[in-house]
Amino acid sequence: MLIDIIAGARPNFIKIAPIIAAIEEQSKEGVDMQYRLVHTGQHYDKKMSGDFFEQLNIPAPHYNLEAGSGTQAEQTGKIMIGYEQLLLAQPCDLCIVVGDVTSTMACAIAAKKVNNIKVAHVEGGIRSGDLTMPEEINRIVTDSITDYFFTTSEVANENLRKAGVGNDKIFFVGNTMIDTLYQQMPHFIKPAFWDNYNLKDRQYIVMTLHRPNNVDNKEILKEILHEIVKASNGLPVIFPVHPRTSKMLDVIGIEGSNLLKIDPLSYLEFNYLVKNSKAVITDSGGITEEATVLGVPCMTLRDSTERPETCTIGTNELIGTDPVNIGPAFAKLFSGAWKKGSIPELWDGKTAGRIVSRIADIFGLHKL
Ligand code: UDP
Repeated sequence: MLIDIIAGARPNFIKIAPIIAAIEEQSKEGVDMQYRLVHTGQHYDKKMSGDFFEQLNIPAPHYNLEAGSGTQAEQTGKIMIGYEQLLLAQPCDLCIVVGDVTSTMACAIAAKKVNNIKVAHVEGGIRSGDLTMPEEINRIVTDSITDYFFTTSEVANENLRKAGVGNDKIFFVGNTMIDTLYQQMPHFIKPAFWDNYNLKDRQYIVMTLHRPNNVDNKEILKEILHEIVKASNGLPVIFPVHPRTSKMLDVIGIEGSNLLKIDPLSYLEFNYLVKNSKAVITDSGGITEEATVLGVPCMTLRDSTERPETCTIGTNELIGTDPVNIGPAFAKLFSGAWKKGSIPELWDGKTAGRIVSRIADIFGLHKL
């Protein structure tokens, strides 16, 4: 069978790497499974794309749709047109989409509409309930046409059941982002600036921000940065800046000598930093999962999360979007009262193997 694997943006690359490795393994063992890697080109530069292929040993994409940047609708349209052309020329048997980015939704729609190609959604069923997030729309639309849901939590399973999805379509398998984290942990790289910034284990903070609610408004972003500088007791705050946030930072400037603005980091450097940090402050989704597994306190600058298990089981806490909450959260961290957390069920590094075995079962594939 021919499986298309879709990846378009940074978090996708981390989620597909173990799935590709698992398919290659099955194929080597004689199971009739081939794949085509389709890069939509949503993220395209070295720091948001190329470095991840290199570090995570992801093979070069078979196709690049070169969607580039644009508005939500422009990107969705370009990706759908590009992927539809590929499918019309050479259809696949199954389209695997991961996560919640524009490419996830656009390719799921294109696949379903070309000959009702089956769609599998890895990380299906998660919901923030916040329709102001473009990702939430991508999740809902993708899941409304998905055939096979590979889920990360019982909460996701329940969300799907509530939406009327039958148990026979839901496969609770765990988290492929955590497969990558475990596989790569022995290879984490201490960033070159470690000594220049005089960093010491557990004596710095890692920060990332890229949600429109936090970074698209000049005043809000300024207030967030101001509160973080004020609350962080002079500890270095390492801030790898997402391209979306970079434009706004250029407008407002950056304040506070302990706030260290840098380019987005490679995966192995970023997770080295997270693993050895005192805490993470973020509005990312994936980073709350990684911090949970690494046992690092995580403050999330959002009012909701589609990954509630990172709060109920892990080290994450939603501190909300009001910057006044930042001071008390840091005070709690410095008092040593932050929860220790544990690791959610099936986040064990073996998820991709489970996904690929289920696909083999569903499609009746056997070793030759
Ligand atoms: N990440 C990275 N370098 C960075 C910031 C993040 O490698 O400078 C990784 C991080 O470890 C996680 C993923 O990017 O695996 C999260 O991506 P992002 O925050 O862009 O997306 P989200 O998870 O919010 O969808």
